[in-house]
Amino acid sequence: MLIGIDVGGTNIKSGLMDMNNNLLFDQSRPTGTTQDEIVNNLADIINGLQEKARKEFNKEVLGVGIGVPGVVNKELDHVFKCTNLGWFDIPLRKILKEKTDFNVYLDNDANLAALAEHYIGSLKNKDTGVLLTLGTGVGGGVIINGKPYRGGNGLGMEIGHMVIGENFYNCSCGKNGCFETFASATAIVKHFEKLLADNNVTVDHEISSKEIFERAEKGEELPMKAVDRYTTYLATGIVNVINAMDPEVISLGGGVAAAGDFLLNILTKKVTDTLFVKGFPSAKINYATAGNKAGIIGAALLVKEEIA
Ligand SMILES: [Zn+2]
Repeated sequence: MLIGIDVGGTNIKSGLMDMNNNLLFDQSRPTGTTQDEIVNNLADIINGLQEKARKEFNKEVLGVGIGVPGVVNKELDHVFKCTNLGWFDIPLRKILKEKTDFNVYLDNDANLAALAEHYIGSLKNKDTGVLLTLGTGVGGGVIINGKPYRGGNGLGMEIGHMVIGENFYNCSCGKNGCFETFASATAIVKHFEKLLADNNVTVDHEISSKEIFERAEKGEELPMKAVDRYTTYLATGIVNVINAMDPEVISLGGGVAAAGDFLLNILTKKVTDTLFVKGFPSAKINYATAGNKAGIIGAALLVKEEIA
């Protein structure tokens, strides 16, 4: 069996997967706040899952994969930056080896979500594919020749930080104009809130991207304005990715995926209209299908890729 762990800003999701890619057990617990607390939680989870594998499934755990919302080195053993968790530069494999006796494999969470899509979801049987997770930020995971692509140093495909324009607020990375400040779920909410403020409209509740898309689909003017700008920039980023690497499929995941066909139809038209080469076969745009446990499954699949 394999252990897959998905470290998020709020919860750590983890589970046990068999060698046929079936997730047999999964669980979730709060991430914790300090670095020590998070590391101890990870060790606890690994030791607990190993015990469970032995007792309940009568199997040994062959390896542990961990997805983190940040940058991991090429050797997949060292976390360099997780802005959400306040982590910078931790030799996580070495630390967890001491606490659990396992050599864990680490990767960026978007890379692992793309790996899960490649095995069981929207990028299945595709040689080249891109997963864009449109949530708090924009994560990019890329499959090339059937393998996760991480670049020369492990920094590859930080698609969310391609600069594509000038925006009214700065990115969490400190720059202005990053793709994720236009194309994340957070981005459309921020822009809609700006539109409301500019039009002196006050609201009594927290706005979600889902609400904006639903109201736009019903024909409301300000939500449609927000969707129009959102899809224009999302299409620009997608066309840049198509022009740079010509994937077979670009899959969209994350909170924005709830917008369904309404978003997909507007987006596909804008992408088709702005392609460099028109009338030539190009990337199909669809939604991710591996589900909300893709992070756990992708982390377990990483082990499979690494020990194979
Ligand atoms: Zn940025």
